[in-house]
Amino acid sequence: METRKLFYEDSALKSFTAKVTQVREGWVALDATAFYPEGGGQPYDLGTLGETAVLEVQEEDGVIWHKTEKPLTVGETVRGEIDWQRRFDLMQQHTAEHIISGVANRLYGCHNVGFHMGADVITLDFDKVLPEDAMSKIEQLANEAVFANIPVRCYVPAEDELPGIPYRTKKALPYPVRLVEIPGYDTCACCGVHTKTTGALGLIKLLSCVKFHQGVRIEMVAGWRAYRMFCQVFDQNRQVSQAFSAKILETGEAARRMNAALTAEKFRSTSLERQLMEAIAQSFAGQEKAICFTKELPARPLAEQLAAKGAKLAAVFRGSDGEGYSFALISKTENVADLGKALTQTFSGKGGGRDGFFQGSITATEAQIWGFW
Ligand SMILES: [Zn+2]
Repeated sequence: METRKLFYEDSALKSFTAKVTQVREGWVALDATAFYPEGGGQPYDLGTLGETAVLEVQEEDGVIWHKTEKPLTVGETVRGEIDWQRRFDLMQQHTAEHIISGVANRLYGCHNVGFHMGADVITLDFDKVLPEDAMSKIEQLANEAVFANIPVRCYVPAEDELPGIPYRTKKALPYPVRLVEIPGYDTCACCGVHTKTTGALGLIKLLSCVKFHQGVRIEMVAGWRAYRMFCQVFDQNRQVSQAFSAKILETGEAARRMNAALTAEKFRSTSLERQLMEAIAQSFAGQEKAICFTKELPARPLAEQLAAKGAKLAAVFRGSDGEGYSFALISKTENVADLGKALTQTFSGKGGGRDGFFQGSITATEAQIWGFW
């Protein structure tokens, strides 16, 4: 016996009573159900049947099977409760997808060729590349449909009427074909469940549009997901606004200004660093062995400066007694590879180098390093 599909009679039905008609290996069929089985890109419902949880729902030859945690008995009457938060969220995303696909099709002639409802966002694939302003245009029109609170009409037209109705479909379907119509925006063949009116979507927000195969992939959210995302993004922006002391609608400009200032500061500090290293190298001029300790200057460029000022052996140690030192050795006359190895062995460090250059890191104090020479 085929299951009576209460979800088609009333998509807002949250609970119902029904009789168990068949059981098999953990699965249960009822004479009627409000549990939507997987299909049309929409995941199955969860919830409870009597005292047991419903783990999965699938349809087979008109019979809807519920996978339950505990067994039920043929003939018993059970009360079914849909996990409404989950179902309503899925209906919001799904119905929004219809509107976006319908509007995109009308404005740009593109076709929805892929649809995935993820845990966070839903993705929509179109078969054409869209112009740059398409996202905002589609989104604007789609939200006009939401605010107009249009009733969503789901129906099976008479077989002879069907050819006269223009509707979207991914493939040719055998009759009967169930149509979901959002008057003025979209008509699509679909077996899913939808909100009763477009106003129940609250808001549709497109998040991104990237090239995908021959067309584009759009990420979007609707309903509570859009509200939750707005709250998260608003909170992030509030934090940026506080950090930059900028008004909440001027954080972008504040971030750009900060970035420019940071770049200018980087140039300045690099230039000062170079001047400082030259001055230090100058102070070592005439010394054959230039051994230098620094807290912040980079070891290798400073060693190069020292070598350039005539040091036969330049050794720079950067760091502190507490944290240890990284070091660079440069010499044209001495074997810095042996010297470096001796240093790393003495002070349990590591390092390597070639062609008169050696760099490494060691754990030692400044006094111990002086004692090494
Ligand atoms: Zn649908």
